[in-house]
Amino acid sequence: MIQVPFTGGCQCEAVRYRGSMPPFVAYTCHCRACQKMTSSAFAICMHIPAESLEVTQGSPVTQQRTADDGNILTTHFCGDCGSPLFIANNARPRLRTILVGTLDDPDAVEIVAHIWTSRRLPWVVVPAGQPVFDEGADWRPYYKADPTRLERA
Ligand SMILES: [Zn+2]
Ligand SMILES: [Zn+2]
Repeated sequence: MIQVPFTGGCQCEAVRYRGSMPPFVAYTCHCRACQKMTSSAFAICMHIPAESLEVTQGSPVTQQRTADDGNILTTHFCGDCGSPLFIANNARPRLRTILVGTLDDPDAVEIVAHIWTSRRLPWVVVPAGQPVFDEGADWRPYYKADPTRLERA
């Protein structure tokens, strides 16, 4: 179970951040965009309240792309080492998606689902009993603490 506040940063430590509220949900995403972004098999993602995230050192640079659903995703990454740190979605302005691999203590994060497994690399094994979605998931059941958080602002 992740403790707050939690901290993280990029590979070269030029950019550091701090989160002061518990996450809503954490999951893996096996979509091609996440594979490209991480240059790996999947991204590990964690939704947190936008206002709880503070960049405490350095200034991330940003890159925008349009997702399949038309939403504009802004990835914040270190301009020095290139590590992607967190993502903003224009349709979910009150949320940020932390890339869990950048946390100082990623072991503390409990993954509750696996999305875009239609693009899962064949050797990646999802633990038995964990929810799997061929494409995106409806996260509303996971937002019991603040059900309005997923609605458009
Ligand atoms: Zn860096
Ligand atoms: Zn993805």
